[in-house]
Amino acid sequence: MTKNQAEKRIQELSKLLEQYNFEYYVQDNPSVEDYVYDGLMQELRSLETEFPELLSPQSPSQRVGGTASNQFEKVSHAVQMQSLQDVFDFEQVSDFVTRCHEVFPEAEFSVEPKIDGLSVSLEYRDNKFVLGSTRGDGFTGEDVTANLKTIRTIPFNLHLEEKLPLLEVRGEVYMPKEQFLKLVAQQEENGEQPFKNPRNAAAGSLRQKYSEITAKRKLDIFVFNLQRCEGKEFASHSETLEFLQKAGFHMIPDWKICHDFEEIRNAIEAIGNSRQNLPYDIDGVVIKVNNLEQRTLFGATSKTPKWAIAYKFPPEEKETTLREIEVNVGRTGALTPVAVFDTVTLAGTSVSRAVLHNQDFIAEKNICIGDRIIVRKAGDIIPEVLRSVSHAENAVPYVLPECCPVCGAKAVRDEGESVLRCPNIACPAQLHKQLVHFASRDAMNIDGLGTAIINLLLEQKLVSDPADLYSLTAEQLLLLEGFQKKSAENLVNAIAKSKTAPLDRVIFALGIRNIGQKAGKLLCDKFLTLDALERAEKSEISEIEGFCDIMAENVYTALHDEAVQHLLEKLKSAGLTMQYQKQEVSENTFFSGKIFVLTGTLEKMKRSEAKQRIESAGGKVSGSVSKKTDYVIAGEDAGSKLTKAQELGIGILSETEFLEKL
Ligand code: NAD
Repeated sequence: MTKNQAEKRIQELSKLLEQYNFEYYVQDNPSVEDYVYDGLMQELRSLETEFPELLSPQSPSQRVGGTASNQFEKVSHAVQMQSLQDVFDFEQVSDFVTRCHEVFPEAEFSVEPKIDGLSVSLEYRDNKFVLGSTRGDGFTGEDVTANLKTIRTIPFNLHLEEKLPLLEVRGEVYMPKEQFLKLVAQQEENGEQPFKNPRNAAAGSLRQKYSEITAKRKLDIFVFNLQRCEGKEFASHSETLEFLQKAGFHMIPDWKICHDFEEIRNAIEAIGNSRQNLPYDIDGVVIKVNNLEQRTLFGATSKTPKWAIAYKFPPEEKETTLREIEVNVGRTGALTPVAVFDTVTLAGTSVSRAVLHNQDFIAEKNICIGDRIIVRKAGDIIPEVLRSVSHAENAVPYVLPECCPVCGAKAVRDEGESVLRCPNIACPAQLHKQLVHFASRDAMNIDGLGTAIINLLLEQKLVSDPADLYSLTAEQLLLLEGFQKKSAENLVNAIAKSKTAPLDRVIFALGIRNIGQKAGKLLCDKFLTLDALERAEKSEISEIEGFCDIMAENVYTALHDEAVQHLLEKLKSAGLTMQYQKQEVSENTFFSGKIFVLTGTLEKMKRSEAKQRIESAGGKVSGSVSKKTDYVIAGEDAGSKLTKAQELGIGILSETEFLEKL
């Protein structure tokens, strides 16, 4: 390669690596696999070695990849948070050991698992946790103290008898595999873009604006280095690890002191073999000189210390045959295709299934049943289909079924969504979601029937549709975890009380797509009884003001669905009254046709009642103040809406004035 060609390629590689750094460190959403990134970085390094005059201090090979985002306060690191020099084979490990032994023939090494998470620093003053930050570019990181405080294994106070004026440690925040799998399943269910691996999940969860979200993600940490300490001296890394363990930190596990390459290789292999059984993800093994004075003498480059290397595990890929594609229906009706292939062993476990996400994913990879495919474990946890290598004879591209495989309803794909969904509210696969909605406040308003209890009812197979709730007895509930006589009776009473819910709420409770509370009311205003609504033609439904064709279609289809009809019959037999009293709109000339905004706390009535009374009097209620607003009704502690109304010169009514007008 000529110098000109090398220069051009270095520019290309630098640009690409910068972009991947941004996606990985700032967006927590990489677009390429780590081994692709590592390959490009190696290519860049070898070009820079061949043409040293082309090496720029700005090159991605010379800098730690991250940057601190403006979303957080910035923190300057007193001790630079460096990266590690990666190596990919045992020869390079052996070279490193030889280099170290040439300088210090007696040098010992600490061999530790390399946790796949994100690096943080924790600072303690007088034994108290005062500041936690991310690595950023190694010099400046982000202040994530509040979020780190949600990690239970980070001690707020050091468990030490002596008071240390200053202690700073470095650790790796990670998401346990089990928690990661749960989070990804939830994200897939919600049609959200799932995290690609536990590392990105940990980074995305720690770098959250609201610590409540971080807390829910159940992150953990392993501390692996003492950065600074005032009031105590140490000679070796292993001493610091033992001391930090006593001080109350969750320390890096399975570390071992080795003396030569053979011992190191055995330790690496042992860690590699245990990898698949660990409850957290590791992506390699770190080998560090143990003696702290020797470390200082080895020094560092601008990016990595010279006294340590990271041996990276190669990704394991296998070729196999795709036998079929199963379609699973999730709790929210999402249809998820799953590849079923001849069993292969990956990262020590047998694998025969991998999620194919959605139709776009399948089309992009041109996957057909019978293909030879390459599979691997992403982040060594989730099996994934990487690509199709060859098609079988007469293979046809796979297309997801048009109907839900559980209930047979025609599946729908909303605009802008990649997920195909079963729209059938009575589909048995969606029972959990259906029950939560049915019991919710604006629907049947069953006090005390939340997600956790619904889970228990489903686990014990006590309900197979919402109507079954009405035959539950206190004795049955008492057998469930957490129930006592009083709470069981209360729930049975709350369920019974909901039998008199008006028809519009029952319709809303059915969870028909696009049919909210208001649409439920409009339907009842027109048809008054369930019988009349069931007999209605689609065209009659779509005549309702505020209804579009899709809404009419959804109502009509749902009410003519056998499963929904059966459910309604069961609800009737359970004693639901399903009455509806149309509220006569007594036009009040003051309210008629005007737009009102409610703000602050009303003393005499709830906001929902005020809204209903304004609507009954012919007015409309809007959520925000604009030039179109006629009046703002301001209760106690009214805030920005009142200020905006004053700025726009809009009429303002106190609660008393509002009641007078009514
Ligand atoms: P690194 O992940 O290779 O290694 C350094 C990190 O290892 C340290 O920051 C430290 O926090 C961590 N670590 C875990 N356990 C440790 C232990 N026991 N002792 C010491 N350190 C330990 O380096 P990096 O700079 O954080 O990231 C570079 C790597 O990230 C690349 O090799 C690549 O695999 C990946 N990456 C991928 C993309 C992508 O687009 N896929 C982009 C950028 C980086």
